[in-house]
Amino acid sequence: FSDIAMYKAKEQGRDNFNFFKPKLDVDIHYEVEIINDLQKALDNNEFKLYYQPKVDAISGKIIGAEGLIRWEHPSKGIIPPNEFIPFAENTGFILKIGEFVINEGIKYISKLNLHGYDNIHVSINISNRQFQHSDIYNQVNSALKVHMVKGKQLALEITESLLVDNVEDTIEKLHKIKKLNVKICMDDFGTGYSSLSYLKLFPIDSLKIDKSFVDDIKDNSNNERILLNTIIAMGQTLGLDVIAEGIEEGYQLRYLQSKNCQYYQGYYFSKAVTEDEFIALLKNQ
Ligand code: C2E
Ligand code: MG
Ligand code: MG
Ligand code: MG
Repeated sequence: FSDIAMYKAKEQGRDNFNFFKPKLDVDIHYEVEIINDLQKALDNNEFKLYYQPKVDAISGKIIGAEGLIRWEHPSKGIIPPNEFIPFAENTGFILKIGEFVINEGIKYISKLNLHGYDNIHVSINISNRQFQHSDIYNQVNSALKVHMVKGKQLALEITESLLVDNVEDTIEKLHKIKKLNVKICMDDFGTGYSSLSYLKLFPIDSLKIDKSFVDDIKDNSNNERILLNTIIAMGQTLGLDVIAEGIEEGYQLRYLQSKNCQYYQGYYFSKAVTEDEFIALLKNQ
């Protein structure tokens, strides 16, 4: 997306501290333009959640899906989240996108239920800024009511950096959200600052091991992945579900199975697909 690409190139040339106070008029111009584009996209229903299956190691069955946003741009095709989510986070527009995602994800659960798949859960991604500045509890609570969905079918994926700032506040908010029976998943685990023992402080249900650890599992190498093994073992000791993301190869799956990792996500099984395609995957299994 050319405007965003240009914006990014410019952004890289300055330090983050000044991000919210652009020095040049031209920066303000681009920011306003792109925010207008994002608002139009929201109004025209161009944002869509795609769903990537989560698979259980033992049964081999799909047990849930992660909702991943795409921008179906009328002329530019499908724009992936990395092209606009960072910009949305930096400008605050993520609060609007985030609320949309909460509603879409929960609406989709009610659609799954209509098709008889009320044992399938859906997770959605919550960005840090959104967690701190939106009233996630109320947004989730009212969307669950509107769509007549039970909280236990929903999981929120948060990232480790949330556990570093405003710790007390984060714990309190998570406890409140958990009263809705919504599950909390720690996404991209192992890439941030938090230690495994620190995790005990937070009301978390599952850990998603970052793809970079899975990438490190190489074909036919006997060498143990110490850090990866430790994360899986400690996650299990803490009573958390452990999910590995970014599985692309059979040998990665076999290695993780040998370590008793329970749940998987990756192109090896499926990329993220449309709402209807995901329902077709459920039907065919
Ligand atoms: P994430 O939450 O860690 O999502 C996993 C990403 O890895 C997704 O990219 C997924 O398509 C990709 N992936 C899954 N399996 C494989 C694999 O086997 N190989 C490879 N190479 N990639 C795989 P995607 O959809 O482009 O999303 C990128 C990131 O954008 C997400 O990372 C998440 O941080 C963010 N994001 C996506 N949707 C949303 C959203 O609705 N809200 C927010 N706040 N962030 C979102
Ligand atoms: Mg995620
Ligand atoms: Mg992830
Ligand atoms: Mg990631």
